[in-house]
Amino acid sequence: MALIVEKYGGTSVGDVERINAVADKVAGARAEGHEMVVVVSAMSGETNRLTELAAEVNPEVPARELDVLLATGEQVTIALLTMALHRRGCDARSYTGGQVHIRTDAVHGRARILDIEDARVRHDLCQGRVVVVAGFQGVDEAQNITTLGRGGSDTTAVAMAAALKADECRIYTDVDGVYTADPRIVPEARRLDSITVEEMLEMASLGTKVLQIRSVEFAGKYRVPLRVLSSFGSGPGTLITFEEPLMEQPMISGIAYNRDEAKLTIRGIPDEPGIAYRILGPISDAHINVDMIVQNVGADGTTDLTFTVHRNDYPQSLSILKQTAEVLSARDVVGADDIAKVSIVGVGMRSHAGIATTMFRSLAEEGINIQMISTSEIKISVVVDDKYMELGVRTLHKAFGLENGTKHGDTPPSAG
Ligand code: ADP
Ligand code: ASP
Ligand code: MG
Repeated sequence: MALIVEKYGGTSVGDVERINAVADKVAGARAEGHEMVVVVSAMSGETNRLTELAAEVNPEVPARELDVLLATGEQVTIALLTMALHRRGCDARSYTGGQVHIRTDAVHGRARILDIEDARVRHDLCQGRVVVVAGFQGVDEAQNITTLGRGGSDTTAVAMAAALKADECRIYTDVDGVYTADPRIVPEARRLDSITVEEMLEMASLGTKVLQIRSVEFAGKYRVPLRVLSSFGSGPGTLITFEEPLMEQPMISGIAYNRDEAKLTIRGIPDEPGIAYRILGPISDAHINVDMIVQNVGADGTTDLTFTVHRNDYPQSLSILKQTAEVLSARDVVGADDIAKVSIVGVGMRSHAGIATTMFRSLAEEGINIQMISTSEIKISVVVDDKYMELGVRTLHKAFGLENGTKHGDTPPSAG
């Protein structure tokens, strides 16, 4: 008998038929004797629908009230799933995030979980009940409802698993594991039997939305045994592992992409100490995160600085940068939000030379211009024109032989 935390995403609870299928699965596991905690997302499309509704009522949506609204999506699915479990003779109780004391900071819309008090859940488990918890939500110290950011139910599940010291956390979704690239864009992508937590962290932070980045951070920090599986099939999925595999690694494990960024450039600024600080300081004071940064030195002693921010922060960043440009007597400010970031990720990069050359050459052969580059020990990212994003992902997938698979133990794709 094991304590298992399962999470079902939006598509997996997208209609009554699917909720019934989840109930069958959960009731089956309970009948085998497992202690079951189930985290669910809102029905697919619901969080978007609520977000649009809010914007219709007030284009400058108050963040606290938006969280009150968005949290209702998950409250619907916990109740429906619990009713379906009762119908199957399976004792179960549904709880909102606040009711099981998922305590977060007060940053509405992207709150971070601080701690979870597990007494209530443990009591129910001892009584033999299945516990159904609303994903994506918590409460701050003053009992205000908070939400954890898009995809946040993954994080609820892994945090619950960590708090309960669960034997396994299973993320059920609409693909049967983590693939070498998004199977919606690269039909030849392959499911990985396993991926290291370090690589999964990079993939998630570079835009792979199959797991929210915070959930991978929790898994790494608390060593939660984490698996991504299909809620429609019965395959083994992908295991997130903590040790570096002993096997010979392929150069690259996966390709990630991100369409959520925008690029800003301030041109003709003095090339002197403190200039980056004077430009980026006001951006960070506005709580805007900067991702990539490039500074060029011109022949005339002036310099240009280009950086990227989240697309949602683009209008505000542009107006802040224009103010800075006036203060610094800069030549001009330009920006673009029709960009995309394409990245290659792999711990194998540490032991292989020439990876960047292969990446840049294969993009050049397709006529894709690289606007910015950034690297770390296990990833290389490039910014390209948005319209070349899909071509870029497919080109790199092919260039690094990911469709053939060199990694020991991997299997051919079985879903898309
Ligand atoms: P859920 O609603 O279950 O949380 P998500 O839509 O958040 O599901 O995540 C699953 C989706 O992630 C898949 O449908 C797939 O298109 C996308 N995805 C992007 N990159 C990958 C990848 N490398 N491997 C698997 N899925 C990926
Ligand atoms: N319902 C939320 C979203 O759509 C949280 C989640 O699904 O994980 O982002
Ligand atoms: Mg998700």
